[in-house]
Amino acid sequence: MLPPIERAAELIARSKDLVVLTGAGISTESGIPDFRSPGGIWSKYDPEQFTYQNFVSNPAHRRSYWQMSLEIHPVLAAAQPNAAHVAVAELERRGQLRAVITQNIDGLHQRAGSSPERVIEIHGTALAVVCLSCGDRLPREDVQARVLGGETDPRCRECGGTLKPATVSFGQAMPERETALAFEHAERADVFLVIGSSLVVHPAAYLPVRAVESGAKLVIVNLQPTPCDEMASVLLRGKAGETMAALVELSAS
Ligand code: NAD
Repeated sequence: MLPPIERAAELIARSKDLVVLTGAGISTESGIPDFRSPGGIWSKYDPEQFTYQNFVSNPAHRRSYWQMSLEIHPVLAAAQPNAAHVAVAELERRGQLRAVITQNIDGLHQRAGSSPERVIEIHGTALAVVCLSCGDRLPREDVQARVLGGETDPRCRECGGTLKPATVSFGQAMPERETALAFEHAERADVFLVIGSSLVVHPAAYLPVRAVESGAKLVIVNLQPTPCDEMASVLLRGKAGETMAALVELSAS
């Protein structure tokens, strides 16, 4: 039997409808901590506090959110795409990739060269801010500068409404269009490739299940076990950057 990386490369080389799902693990090598690894974001902050309900209803929670963002946002803004993001963009250039569904909010797929229209951000983006009252949308950098300048709970300059980063918070509804699109792509995939996700956050964690039920072969690149490992055709237990670079090279030959 071929080594796992070669089996995965063979599946990818033959794929015509490849769909990629990425999680926080694809961006750790870019310096952005994930949530669930040791030293991840939730070992430092209490996730219970940062719910949508707290954010909309309680100015004290909003202030502590923006205060936390002064520490976290600069890391995200300075991060550069790594070899795994570049490998995903290369698969698109080869004409094989149908879509990249990402749980990430860091914009690194687009910065690595993936076309924005092929990247489905099911948890939103940290690079924009929206007004919860009038829907006005602003660049995150502009609002971050206001917070740095002393606005502890920045308000919309159009209508005075609450400003919130355009990410999907705990307890907030998933974006309908993106979620529906993600499931459509999962159902049409012939190969479904997961990179750097613990596959415990729903509904994203259900996408590989739907893909396999619809006939796709599942390939998982992740450092730790996931609940979907048993249904995978190939498991690649390694770092996303080197594994994806090798996979893209092998699948081209
Ligand atoms: P997660 O933190 O639950 O899991 C990350 C997985 O990636 C873990 O299983 C870990 O073993 C694996 N991993 C870590 N580094 C890796 C590497 N270098 N190579 C391969 N695997 C690696 O993340 P998740 O599944 O995306 O779900 C949590 C939520 O976190 C998502 O909703 C996402 O929106 C959010 N999040 C996003 C970012 C980001 O945008 N970069 C960062 C932190 C959290």
